[in-house]
Amino acid sequence: MNPKCPLYINGQFVETLEKQNIVNPSTGKVIAEVSMASTKEVELALSSARAAFDQGPWPQFSLIERKDFILKIAQGILDNAELLAALEMQNTGKPIKETTFMDIPSSAKTFEYTANNFIDFLEENEFNVSADAKAKLIPEPMGVVVLIVPWNYPLLIACWKLASALAAGNTVILKPSSLTPLTVFELAKIIHQAGLPAGVVNVINASGAKIGEQLCTDKRVDMISFTGSNEIGKQILQYSSKNVKKLTMELGGKSASLIFNDVDLDVAVNSALTSIFLNQGQMCTAMSRIFVQEGIYDNFLNSFVEKTKYIKLGLADNFETQMGPLISDAQRKKVMAYIDKAKAEGGKVLCGGKIPENAELKNGYFFEPTVLVDVGAHSHIFKEEVFGPVVLIHKFSGSDEAAILANSVDFGLAACIWSKDLYLAQELAKKLNAGTVWINTYGMFYNQLPYGGFKQSGFGKELGKEGFLEYIRIKNVILDQSLEGKPLVSYWYGF
Ligand code: NAD
Repeated sequence: MNPKCPLYINGQFVETLEKQNIVNPSTGKVIAEVSMASTKEVELALSSARAAFDQGPWPQFSLIERKDFILKIAQGILDNAELLAALEMQNTGKPIKETTFMDIPSSAKTFEYTANNFIDFLEENEFNVSADAKAKLIPEPMGVVVLIVPWNYPLLIACWKLASALAAGNTVILKPSSLTPLTVFELAKIIHQAGLPAGVVNVINASGAKIGEQLCTDKRVDMISFTGSNEIGKQILQYSSKNVKKLTMELGGKSASLIFNDVDLDVAVNSALTSIFLNQGQMCTAMSRIFVQEGIYDNFLNSFVEKTKYIKLGLADNFETQMGPLISDAQRKKVMAYIDKAKAEGGKVLCGGKIPENAELKNGYFFEPTVLVDVGAHSHIFKEEVFGPVVLIHKFSGSDEAAILANSVDFGLAACIWSKDLYLAQELAKKLNAGTVWINTYGMFYNQLPYGGFKQSGFGKELGKEGFLEYIRIKNVILDQSLEGKPLVSYWYGF
């Protein structure tokens, strides 16, 4: 591993005096010392991204040229896949199986799909609006876009944003979470090797608390695409109100799985386990509330708890590991505090709820997957995002009640329905206040489909045509070609 992790500004790799240690959450050991941006480097990144947009060639490149660059980035990710998978595993504690088969290939695929499918949406569209007038709709890049990324999918979420922002012709400042910048630093090298002009992509690692306001209030920034917590999302809404910027907000979730009597029990249990415990439960779309219809509730619960006990916790570098550590000790303490509060509010822990006793894991931030029952709909853990391997299981009787329970929180990110009655499932999907509803599946993200939340889970989309178009503004040019020298508007005054 490269112990030096510089920032990337204006086509240069920049070492800073301020450094931060990056810790492997499996072992608690320091694995890298990374540069941290101060206000000085933020200023450099802002001026570089602005100049690259206003004077640089990027927005003016032909669509084919931009497409070629973006395909080179996709190829660069694939060429470095093994290194990236190892870095993501070491930095986040995700099991190596996940980073190898999910995070890294999906990151490359997003660039490839965006280049091959969305760039054509940038063609101008001309049409007649009346007998005399025609209009031209011109898609233009937004300008300078700030991309702010969380720690749970550091490379993948960065690539979702970056692929669309670049393909649309924007220049960007990418800010990874300061807990997990390693793969994004590697991505900067790939982008450099792909030959993108200086200033088109700038990567600054920094504490959001220190530089967030400077970055998000600057007039040179036209748009902010944020993925993270509601708390920080609300701060960014405030920053952006100072000089009105376009925003997309991908925030938290408290998603519900609704499991009906007619399912194949094993399939439903296995899928429900994945839907909460993948990535140690640190997924915005984690199905952290599972509602099971009363006819199968007891069998489902018994099977779910038994299988949860057999989930293999382990060091993230082991291909057999099914669950790695949480991202940090602070995150583990937050999860434990939620469980304590749930117990105080009447909840019962059926399994997990503690730090594992395995000596091999003692220095990491491991936590046992936890199943809770008897949690009231008014308790904190029912309504708030835990962001860890903790699930609440409840009973319901009919689909109306299931919809009410699923919709009863402030979030609206995603939901799952499990039933063989596809008519019922599709009717129920219409009633759910969630941006994504999976029926008889979970966690399937497709580059061609938009993804984003409702209610307090945010607004705007990632992926799909709709996600791509977030990074574009439409200019409307109207040409009146009636009455040479006497356009229609002159009749108002009759001169
Ligand atoms: P976070 O809000 O703490 O941090 C997100 C990013 O914001 C980081 O890069 C952080 O450095 C930066 N930041 C912090 N303070 C800032 C400030 N004042 N100004 C500007 N930037 C600032 O979130 P996290 O803990 O990294 O990630 C977990 C959260 O992300 C969870 O709530 C999860 O639900 C959410 N998330 C949502 C989605 C989605 O698609 N809806 C996807 C992944 C994660």
